[in-house]
Amino acid sequence: MMKVTFLGSGTGVPLASRASPSLLLSTENELYLLDLGPGALRRLAHLGISHEQISGVFITHFHLDHSLDLVHLLFATRHPPVLRKRAPFFIAGPLGFNQFLSGLHSAYGKWISLPEKLLKVVEIEPGSHITGLCPRLTVRTASTGHTPRSLAYRFDHPRAGSIVYTGDTTCSQEVIELAQGADLMVTECSFPDEMPVEGHLTPALAGKMAHEAEVRKLALCHFYPEALASNISEQCRGHFHGELVLSSDGLVLGP
Ligand SMILES: [Zn+2]
Ligand SMILES: [Zn+2]
Repeated sequence: MMKVTFLGSGTGVPLASRASPSLLLSTENELYLLDLGPGALRRLAHLGISHEQISGVFITHFHLDHSLDLVHLLFATRHPPVLRKRAPFFIAGPLGFNQFLSGLHSAYGKWISLPEKLLKVVEIEPGSHITGLCPRLTVRTASTGHTPRSLAYRFDHPRAGSIVYTGDTTCSQEVIELAQGADLMVTECSFPDEMPVEGHLTPALAGKMAHEAEVRKLALCHFYPEALASNISEQCRGHFHGELVLSSDGLVLGP
């Protein structure tokens, strides 16, 4: 079993209906978070899931709409009843993750430090092929070109298929190769075709990538208000003919 739940389908723009980017990736016995935008932990609580149940976190890049609740997670884990009981977990991110975390430690000090035996920090290079971090899952990464070190992640389950989460991305050949033949690709669609912004995708570019990667199902998220005001499906459909989903908060998708 493998599925994703959209905790936040939005961006850095605070909207009543869309929290900032975060996905819950669930397998038989494990729960992972992909990005941790502001408000993600509260969305998780709405689902009846405590942050203590999370086995690991994968961060795509350090923009605050994708990483701010990491501070909240570390702080919440310091609550003594949580510290006493919680199982060890990991947080993983692109190259520079340790440096990013030391910046957070300079700001918040001991309020976000956790014992080494409880928290493992993993820095991941693009082009990695990781086994052993998540039971049953193989994790692969590619550079998205959104920031110099931003990563897309691919999760392959031996029986349940494959899910790719790109985070913020350009129309990157590396990501197209990473996503080749995936059952589900979750990617961003920040701005409409008529208003492209460097470093992000439009519906047409997202459709083009999904078409070239020959993915079975494409789920779009990370909509700025300008994208929401346009006909996203129609713009994407010009390029991609598989199953297309426009995500919303709370939506659950399997591969
Ligand atoms: Zn973003
Ligand atoms: Zn970003």
